[in-house]
Amino acid sequence: MADLAVHGGTPALRDLGEFPAWPQPDEAGEAALVEVYRSGRWGSTAGSVVADFEREFARYQDSRHGTAVVNGTLAIVAALRACGVGPGDEVIVPPYTFIATASAALFLGAVPVFADVDPQTHLLDPAAAAAAITERTRAIIPVHLAGRAADMDAFSELGRSRSITVVEDCAQAIGTRFRGRAVGSMGDVGTFSFQSSKNITAGEGGLVTTSDPALAEALYSQVNVGRTRGGGWYEHQHVGYNLRLTEFQAAVLRTQLRRHPADQVLREHRSQLLRADLDQVEGVQLAPPDPHLTSHGHHLFLLRLPELGRRGLRDAAVKALAAEGVAASPGYVPLHRNEAVLTEARAAADRLGQPYPEAPCPRADLVATDTIWLPHRYLSGTEEQTRAVAAAIAKVARSAAELDEVLLR
Ligand SMILES: *Cc1c(COP(=O)(O)O)cnc(C)c1O
Repeated sequence: MADLAVHGGTPALRDLGEFPAWPQPDEAGEAALVEVYRSGRWGSTAGSVVADFEREFARYQDSRHGTAVVNGTLAIVAALRACGVGPGDEVIVPPYTFIATASAALFLGAVPVFADVDPQTHLLDPAAAAAAITERTRAIIPVHLAGRAADMDAFSELGRSRSITVVEDCAQAIGTRFRGRAVGSMGDVGTFSFQSSKNITAGEGGLVTTSDPALAEALYSQVNVGRTRGGGWYEHQHVGYNLRLTEFQAAVLRTQLRRHPADQVLREHRSQLLRADLDQVEGVQLAPPDPHLTSHGHHLFLLRLPELGRRGLRDAAVKALAAEGVAASPGYVPLHRNEAVLTEARAAADRLGQPYPEAPCPRADLVATDTIWLPHRYLSGTEEQTRAVAAAIAKVARSAAELDEVLLR
């Protein structure tokens, strides 16, 4: 019988200390913040820090233009609206993602339509997305979940051949590269988040990338109450939101961007260690390597526990891992099972007398029963800590019989 900590055994991570917290304050961030404060130029209409960050971040992601916004949710809303998505338009999204991917469409009166994921990768399946296209489909949002790129060859081709806008949801994929190209540069637009958990953060924040100058102007207008660049203060040529980021946030984000490459080297190394230790563990299933994925963004470390999932023991595994010292997450409830989203989606279609396409998503349902993930701070610890995390997961994965008892208690 395995000595699970949840049953009184020694925790796998005992005496190894805490993993580094996230976010990590540093001197560069503090100095940048104080500089903005003392300057008195706190908003981007007065200062230039947001504009500098937009330029630097767009370059980092291989895009010509970057438009900073208040968060990743409204980045998707602004992107869709700039691309002309409106009431009744269908937007194809994966069900296995954060709710914002779908709610962004709803905020515009558009209809999110779910297409199933590939269970090996948790990513939107291009074939399922193609099958979900109707004459009302206006946009498609591949999500680069956990830092792994969706198949952008397939989605770019789908967008081109069917005249559908491709919005890349890159909230979890800062620094991710597919065939050497940064995400956010392959679709029509890319959206990013700088919310606290994300790999670059200022507490909140977001950004939209594009290389299309007309879309960049439309985005500027969306974010700046309908103004156009160089136009008058009260000359609102469009109806737009105020989605501006503050200079404080941009100051912190510039310093975060500078440390990101080094942070990623560490996460890459630690995730390889984890993979190596978990690859041969029975009951643990990792996504197969993708030769086109030239750089993984490592926002989450995703894995499946199919045997435990089949026996309804995934949540018990999460509990057992917590006792070992690993705070894993049971992951998403898929959005095609979320009543709030479904009710609004059906209503949006209904208002225009449209049918609401509800294809089943059995593979999203399946992965939702057996997936767990680790947040990226678990990829920033010492080698010893990393090996102990792998040992904890292996121990729990092999303990189906003992986990039954966890559920009974
Ligand atoms: C975090 C996240 C968002 C939304 O970003 P916020 O900044 O929290 O609004 C959108 N999509 C995905 C996949 C995310 O992980």
